[in-house]
Order: sequence, then C-alpha cells, then structure tokens
Amino acid sequence: MTNNLVIGGGIAGIVTAIELLDGGQSVVLIDRDSRERFGGLALWAFGGMALVGTPEQKKYRIPDSPELALEDWIRFGELGPDDHWPRAWAECYVRDCRVWVYDWVKSLGMKFMPAVNWVERGSAIKGNSVARYHLLWGTGKELVMNLITRLMNHPNGDRLTVLHEHRAIGLIVRDGKVSGCDGVDEASGRSFVVEAENTIVATGGINGSVEQVRRHWPQHWPEAPARILNGAHPYASGEIHHSAAEHGVRLTHVQNMWNYAAGIPHPRGPGCSRPKGRPSAGRCRRLPRLHLLESPRCPDPRPPARPIAGLQGGEPPPRPTPQQPVLPTRQATLAHGADGEAGDLACGG
Ligand SMILES: Cc1cc2nc3c(=O)[nH]c(=O)nc-3n(C[C@H](O)[C@H](O)[C@H](O)COP(=O)(O)OP(=O)(O)OC[C@H]3O[C@@H](n4cnc5c(N)ncnc54)[C@H](O)[C@@H]3O)c2cc1C
Repeated sequence: MTNNLVIGGGIAGIVTAIELLDGGQSVVLIDRDSRERFGGLALWAFGGMALVGTPEQKKYRIPDSPELALEDWIRFGELGPDDHWPRAWAECYVRDCRVWVYDWVKSLGMKFMPAVNWVERGSAIKGNSVARYHLLWGTGKELVMNLITRLMNHPNGDRLTVLHEHRAIGLIVRDGKVSGCDGVDEASGRSFVVEAENTIVATGGINGSVEQVRRHWPQHWPEAPARILNGAHPYASGEIHHSAAEHGVRLTHVQNMWNYAAGIPHPRGPGCSRPKGRPSAGRCRRLPRLHLLESPRCPDPRPPARPIAGLQGGEPPPRPTPQQPVLPTRQATLAHGADGEAGDLACGG
C-alpha cells in the first residue's frame, strides 16, 4: 500500500509526484508509455504560457490585470452561467498564475524569452485584449527534462516508484472509495494491482483516441470531417475517465477538446515513408502515429529499479475491446461521495 498512486507520466503526473514527495509522501507513478517518452505531450509542446502581471509585461508597459484576463477568458471561452467549475478555475488561474506558474517556473532555474507574444486575439469573438503569451527558453521539452531530473533525484526518492509501460485499466473502488487501480504491464503481459490511499488521475484528455473525438464532436458543429489530424497523446484515450464515470464520477465538458493538429510532424520530416522527390501531395503513411515514432532522445536520470511498493503481480486481465466506450458528454449522476460536486472531472486536451 502506497500513500499515493499517480496514473499518467505526462507533465501533470510528474509535477504531482514531485509535490507529493516534497510533502514526504510515498508515490507510485505508472505510465503507459515507454521510458524514453516519459513526460508525455509536453515533450512536443512549444512551452508558451498565458500569464498575467509579469515583470516582462511591466517592462513592455502591457496594461494587464487579473480582472481584464478574466473578462477575456469568460468571453473567448464562451463560459455560460452554468459553467461553475470552468469559471472557478479561470478566477483562480488569473489571480494566482503570476506566483504559482511564473515564479515557480523561474524557481526551477528556467527563463522566459524577453518578449511577450500576443496570440489568440480572436476573430468572430474577441480574444486576448493584450499580449500574455510567455515563451520558455528551450520549449516544453526543456521544462519536462528539468522536472524529470528533479523527480528522479528527489531527496525523498526512496519513496518513489516509477513504472513505465504499465497501463492502468480500471480504478478499484471499495466501500465507495477509490483504493488504487489494476492494469497490465505491457512489456511482460502480466497484470498488476496498485493499492493506494489516494489515487490521482493524470492521463491527459480523451482525445488521443480519434474514435472518442468523433463520438464527442460538439453537437452544434458541422459533422466531423472524414480525416482528422490529431496530435494529442495517443494513450490519452479516456480509458480511466471511463472507469471513473462507471464508478459515478461526473465528467463535464468532454466535448471541449484541443486536438493539436500542430502536434503532427511535417509530412516531409523524419519518419515519413514518402519517397524523396515525389510531389508533396503524396501521403505520409505513418502520419497519424508519427509523434509516437519520433520520440525525443532523453538522457536517463533514473536510479536503478527498486522493489515496487503496493504492487501485486498475476495473470493479465482481459484486454478492453478495441471499440472505445462512450463517455457521457454531459453530467452523469454521482453515485459515490457525499457531495455532488466532489466527483467532478473536467476533460481537456
Ligand atoms: C505541438 C504542441 C504544442 C503545444 N504547445 C503548448 C504550449 O505552447 N503551451 C501549453 O500550455 N501547452 C501546449 N501544448 C499542450 C501540452 O503539451 C499538453 O496540454 C500537456 O502536455 C498535457 O499534459 P498532461 O500531463 O495533462 O497529459 P499528457 O501529456 O497527454 O500525458 C498523459 C500521460 O498519461 C499516460 N496514460 C494515459 N492513459 C494511461 C493509462 N491508462 N495508464 C497509464 N498511463 C496512461 C500517457 O502515457 C501519458 O504519458 C502543446 C501540445 C502540442 C502537441
């Protein structure tokens, strides 16, 4: 039994694990992807952050404030009066991002480029009123490598277990409380169970699965195109969201997804099977999975493997059917938990 199980080794899972170790807790972090691709989608991210009230904005006399940023967010995000949690998040973010994000990133020894970009200004609906987009030197990859190094060399590292190529399949619920997960070690084919006091789901959005993208395509939009460029993390397929929903968690805003077409490498780039010299209209056969094939080469700051706390082996559980389950697009009733809002889980890309 570990204090904490973190499912997902993207930037959200890694930061969560670091903070739990900072607090002296034990952590088992499981990630479906390989050791080389530890870090998730942020390895490919540009590393731009919308921040409010920074020294860079002051230097360039950009008149920003949490109030203005909130106004922009609510208008451009088309938040309605019923969007309780999106509003709460927006309020919290614009108020605290200067300290919680900007100062924290700087405390890691990282720097922002000395220019603030003005992106997402909107067309039909007005977007950002002022420049807020701060770019990290070294992009998302540099941030991820910084965090992985911190995680693997943490002073409380003896309380950490990281398991790669371990796929969580379902949450385990006992007496109305989540007590871990079961899954399969995809390298060996053996099943596993992790028992934990707390379970944190950090598996990205649902939109790594094109099937899920189609099923949750916003109803007020025209029909989904036959071919969709999808650069989201391919393992962020909503598997654990679905398991949580089966146990009564309310999923909201599943249809609000960002599919990161920009995460698809250029068809003429490395990994493309199109023969050289052919017209650019030629198809790249590996396109939909290219971001899996082009893994960045990461140094390996990990200590040797340790025995696994709270982990039990066994025969592999039955694999889920290839057909992805349908997630509730709006809210489902909460079956467990004392208050109806405690089980909310918002989805995003
Ligand atoms: C080209 C591109 C540019 C971007 N630019 C920016 C930017 O400038 N600024 C910005 O803020 N964001 C940007 N992003 C988005 C950003 O990268 C993501 O929002 C962020 O990395 C998501 O992190 P995450 O940890 O939530 O999820 P992910 O990175 O998707 O990680 C999810 C992890 O969960 C694991 N997982 C999933 N299911 C299971 C399971 N069942 N069992 C075990 N493990 C599982 C996966 O293996 C994966 O490692 C960009 C993305 C792309 C593609």
